[in-house]
Amino acid sequence: MFKTKSEVYKKFDLTDAKSRQEYFEYKCEPEIQKLREFLKNNTFIAYFLGKKSAGKGTYSKMFAEIVDKEKIASFSIGDMIRSFDESVRDPEKKKELAEFLKKNYRGYVSVEEILKALENRSTKTLLPSELILALAKHEIAKLGRKAIFIDGFPRDLDQISYSLFFRDLIGYRDDPDVFILIDVPTTVIDERVKFRVICPVCNTPRNVKLLATKNVEYDKATGKFNLLCDNASCSSVQSGKPARMVTKEGDEQGIEPIRARLEKDGMLIQEAFKLQGIPKVLLRNAIPTDQTKDMTDDYEVTPEYVYKYNEAENKVEVSEKPWEVKDDEGVLSNSLMPPPVVVSLIKQLVQALGH
Ligand SMILES: [Zn+2]
Repeated sequence: MFKTKSEVYKKFDLTDAKSRQEYFEYKCEPEIQKLREFLKNNTFIAYFLGKKSAGKGTYSKMFAEIVDKEKIASFSIGDMIRSFDESVRDPEKKKELAEFLKKNYRGYVSVEEILKALENRSTKTLLPSELILALAKHEIAKLGRKAIFIDGFPRDLDQISYSLFFRDLIGYRDDPDVFILIDVPTTVIDERVKFRVICPVCNTPRNVKLLATKNVEYDKATGKFNLLCDNASCSSVQSGKPARMVTKEGDEQGIEPIRARLEKDGMLIQEAFKLQGIPKVLLRNAIPTDQTKDMTDDYEVTPEYVYKYNEAENKVEVSEKPWEVKDDEGVLSNSLMPPPVVVSLIKQLVQALGH
C-alpha cells in the first residue's frame, strides 16, 4: 500500500495505550494477523532467556495484549516457586501437593525430604530440576491449552537439555517451541534498578531517570528532584497531596547484589545459542548510537529525563534527551522502548513458526 510522507514519519506516543496500538498496526499488521490465524487452532511454547530485569514480563504482556490475550499465557517459574513455598506452609494445600508429587515426581531426593527442607528453608535453597518440572507440568495444565511464554526455565545449565523435551512432557508434542534470547546491556539493568522509585501509597513504579511522573518537586535542602505520584486512582493524589515516590532499600546499589546471578544468566544465553534444531529469536534492547538514526525513529528510543530548577518562577523544568549507555562491549548505545522490541519479536516469531 502506498503511504504518504506524513504517514511514514508519523510520531507515536509509545507510553499511551491507544497510540501504541496504532504503532503496532502501522509496523506489523500483516504479521499480527498471521499470528492470530495461527492461534485459532495451534499453540506454541516460547522460552524466554534473558538476564534478570531484562524486560521479559513486559515483553510477553505487551505481546499478548497486541496479538490475543485469550490465547496467550505467561508462566513464571519464579512465581510458581513462591506460591509453592506458601502452599507448603498451609496444612491442607501441603497434603494435596504431597499427593500430587507422589504420583508425578521422580528424582533423587524424596518428596518428604523436599517438603521438610522447604518448611525450614532459606529461600536460596535450590530445588531439584526434576521437582521444578513436575510442578510446572501441574501448573501449566491449569492454564488450559494456550500458547505460553515461559520465564525462568531453563534456569541452570542442566535444565537446557530438559527444555528440549519439555513440550512432550506437558502434552504439547505437535506444537512448535522456540527460544527467545534477550540481549540487554548490563548498564541498562543497572540504571533501571538504581533510579527506580515507587509510590509508598499505591506502589506505582516509576524511574527518576527514565520514566518521570507529571509532577516533579525540587527539594532545596538536598538539591534533589523527587517524583510525585500522578496515578489518578492513588488515594494520595485524590486527597490533593500526591505522595513523594521513594527508592526501595538496596536499589541504590544497582546490580551489585545480583551480579553473580546476571553472569549466570549470561552464560545460560550463550549455551542456548548453540542449540541445534530449535528455532531461536534474538531480541536486542540496545543499538549503537551511530546506527540509531538509520534503524529507528526518535520516539522508539528510551528518553532520559533531565530536570532543571527555575528559581525565579519556583518551578521544575523537565526536558528529554535520548538515554545513552555503554553496552557490554563498551560501545555507546541507545536503549529501545519496549514496543519496537515487541515488533521484532512478532516478526521473528512469525518466521520461527513457519507462517
Ligand atoms: Zn500513588
